[in-house]
Amino acid sequence: MHPYLHKRILEEVLGPHFSARELRIISWANMMQDRPRNQMGRPYIHFDDSAFAASESYIAAEYARLHAALKTGKRNTALRAFGRLLHTRQDFYSHSTWIHNWGDTVDLANTPEDAAPLCLDPLQHPELISGKGGIIWFILWRLPFLGKWFRRNYPPATDTHEYLNLDGPEKGPLFIYSYNAALRHTIVEWETVKQQFSTTA
Ligand SMILES: [Zn+2]
Repeated sequence: MHPYLHKRILEEVLGPHFSARELRIISWANMMQDRPRNQMGRPYIHFDDSAFAASESYIAAEYARLHAALKTGKRNTALRAFGRLLHTRQDFYSHSTWIHNWGDTVDLANTPEDAAPLCLDPLQHPELISGKGGIIWFILWRLPFLGKWFRRNYPPATDTHEYLNLDGPEKGPLFIYSYNAALRHTIVEWETVKQQFSTTA
């Protein structure tokens, strides 16, 4: 999902619960997940490449870091861990086939934007896939002038990130459902830690 959308979700869900300074720490850690180093060889950070188990392990490891940090008074460390794990959780809905599969079963024109179910455990859904990366193609398709030619002659395969992603409104009518599900799942994650954060504020 595009960085400004991650940020918008964090502001909406966490804005009322953290100071502006703390929200900035969470947001920055969240958005830095998309830095180039994390785009190559680390698909689990973005729920890409069908690395569902690795993505869940990553989220669990960041939760462990968060709890350990809060116990030892390192609140900023905890805030950063929270921002990072929320990025991964939010990307699930824009990078996997969860929303696509659900979208095939409903009449989108008559379906409210908060209707898509949350996926609380991707490992229980063997039918899911998420897109394969491909940094070279990503660049070729975006070249000035030549990009159009590459895209026409070498269109993205249906199992690629390029084809499957719902990263922003430009991806069509399914986008709003993935965005809304990411927002609601962010609330679920917040509920699991709000007690710990409020007792250490
Ligand atoms: Zn990402």
